[in-house]
Amino acid sequence: MWRADAFLESMYNEAEKNTKDSQAAMSAEERNRYLKQTLRRLIGEFEANENHKPVLLERESCDGYIRERVELSAVPGVSFAAYILIPEDQRKPMPAAVAVHGHGYGSREIVGLKQDGSSDPDPPGIHRHFAVQLVRRGMVVIAPDVAGFGDRRLAADLARNPEAANSCHRLSTQLLMHGKTLAGLRAAETLRALDYLAERPEVQPGGIGIMGFSGGGLISFLCAALDERIRAAVLAGYPNTFKDSIMAMQHCICNYIPGILNHAELPEWIGLIAPRPLYLESGADDRIFPAAGFNSAVEQLRETYRRAGAEDRLQADLFPGAHEISGRHSYDWLSERLSSPEN
Ligand SMILES: [Zn+2]
Repeated sequence: MWRADAFLESMYNEAEKNTKDSQAAMSAEERNRYLKQTLRRLIGEFEANENHKPVLLERESCDGYIRERVELSAVPGVSFAAYILIPEDQRKPMPAAVAVHGHGYGSREIVGLKQDGSSDPDPPGIHRHFAVQLVRRGMVVIAPDVAGFGDRRLAADLARNPEAANSCHRLSTQLLMHGKTLAGLRAAETLRALDYLAERPEVQPGGIGIMGFSGGGLISFLCAALDERIRAAVLAGYPNTFKDSIMAMQHCICNYIPGILNHAELPEWIGLIAPRPLYLESGADDRIFPAAGFNSAVEQLRETYRRAGAEDRLQADLFPGAHEISGRHSYDWLSERLSSPEN
C-alpha cells in the first residue's frame, strides 16, 4: 500500500464503531462521567500553583468601562496577564464572562488594543474586539493571554525569529513528549482566570459564562465541559466534526489531542456542556471549519439537548462570513442567559 489514505479511513471508521459500541454499553450518566474523566486524562493534568497572589499591573478608565490588567498563575513557575473589563456604571454584582482569543497577538486583540498596548483605532479584525462587545452589554469580562501568543511567545522562538507568529509548535511538541497537551495547559490557565473572576466583588455569584473564538473555542469548550461553574458558553468559529475540520486540512498543531477520537467525535465532546445553555456560530464561508461539518455538529448537538430536555438552551447561527466572529446574536444571547436566574 503505497498510499495510506484507505488505511486512515479505516482507522476513522474503527474509532467510530468503538464509539457506538461504548455508547450502547453505558447509560447516559455513565457515558458522561466516563468522557469527562477521559478528557481530563487526554489533555494532561498540571500541578496547581497554590501560592501565587494576583498582582494588579494597570488600571485605566476607558469609554464606558474600566480596564485592569492583572498577573495570574495556574502552574508553578509560569505566570500570565489577563485584562478585566468592568462596566463603568456597575453598582451591584453583574454577570461575567471569560473571553478566550484564538491565533493572533493575544488578549490585546480582543480588548481594542494594538500589539504594543496602544489603542487600536482601526476597524477590528476577525476577533471583532469581542471582549469590548461583552462589557458593553453589561458583563464583567476577563480576557487572559493564551499561552504561546503575543507576550507569551517563547524566548527560544523569538531568538530565532523576533516576528515569530506564535509558539504553538514548540509548546505543543514539548508538552506532548511529557504526555501533556497545549490545550490542557491553556484550559488550566483559563480556569485559573475563572477562579479569579469568581472572586471579584463586581461579579454575581453563579453568573459566569465563557466565549471563545477558533482556538479559543477549543479552550472554551474544554473549560465548559469540565467545569460546571460555567453557566453558558458561546463557541465561535470552532464547532464542527473532527473529520470535516481538524482532520481534513492542515491546522495548527495546538488543535490536536492524542487519542481523543478513540472515545468520541467532537460534537459528543461538546455535548458534555448540556444541558447548560450553548450558542454555536460559524461563518458559511469558513474554509478551515467548513459549514458542512458545522451543520452536522449542530444536528448531533440538537439531539443531545433534546434528550436532555433542554432543546431551547441550544442555539446556532451559520452567518454570512468567513473564519471570524459574528456576534450578531451571540453577544446578546450570552448576556440574557447569564442575567436570567433559570437560564
Ligand atoms: Zn496554535
